[in-house]
Amino acid sequence: MTLKADYIGRFAPSPSGPLHFGSLVAALASYLDARSRGGQWLLRMEDLDPARESPEAADDIRATLDRFSLYWDGSVLYQSERLDAYANVLQSLRDRDLVYACDCSRTQINEIGGVYDNRCRYRSETTQPNALRVKVADEIIRFEDTIQGPQQQELLRECGDFVLLRKDGLFAYQLAVVVDDAFQNITDIVRGYDLLDSTPRQIYLQRLLGFPPPHYAHIPVAVNELGQKLSKQHFAAPINPESPGKQILAALRFLGMQPPADLGNAPPGTLLPWAIEHWDIQAVPKLANIPLEQFS
Ligand code: GLU
Repeated sequence: MTLKADYIGRFAPSPSGPLHFGSLVAALASYLDARSRGGQWLLRMEDLDPARESPEAADDIRATLDRFSLYWDGSVLYQSERLDAYANVLQSLRDRDLVYACDCSRTQINEIGGVYDNRCRYRSETTQPNALRVKVADEIIRFEDTIQGPQQQELLRECGDFVLLRKDGLFAYQLAVVVDDAFQNITDIVRGYDLLDSTPRQIYLQRLLGFPPPHYAHIPVAVNELGQKLSKQHFAAPINPESPGKQILAALRFLGMQPPADLGNAPPGTLLPWAIEHWDIQAVPKLANIPLEQFS
């Protein structure tokens, strides 16, 4: 990747199904933040889990973004084509004795309160299959979230050593996202609040690997009437590709914008330039989630 610019943002969906309103909001927020600052906006498919994701869903997401006039720069990066890069980075951490094998199950970890206690760090033998965990340091990771304000996490106590390679042999999200944000020279990450507590792990890995830290902004997550994040698991309805203008208007309101009434029937090609001009990241509600029913 040779692209270098003052601002490079990205939208990084996991192609597990069609875009729903929540993912449209994340796409739009990252797009508007990038474009309003004259930046690049990249698209990355986080397709590391073939059991949950499909090439058809990735194609569908691309087609939907096109229909909504959310045009990205350059070619799409597919994480499924980046396995060698993740393997190399993992090996470099192993060479530094920062990684160890762990065969603990989710049930075992839940029994000790859900935070891993690093019990396999000091074992010489583990049975197969193993996950690989990175050793965390006893330090507090602090960062300033552009929307949500100052954040901190005590990695050792609140998270524990975390998985870089899953027991099933798949690379973990935390590793892949850090490797690719650096590979794509991402300077600014705008994404859902559900990933806020992953950020300290990502910053920790960036420090271990000598990668520059991006700026972070976490937008509220759209939730259903039960307070659940819109997702395929919770049967979120796909966004209706027949009415892109209406969906964009709803997403802009979700993000704290107040589009004028005369844009009520405008197509994306008219709405987006208005939104780029009026984008104010500080107007985004400083909330973890917002019920979707307020916007439909
Ligand atoms: N692929 C992740 C998701 O769809 C987002 C990753 C990120 O933005 O860091 O939830």
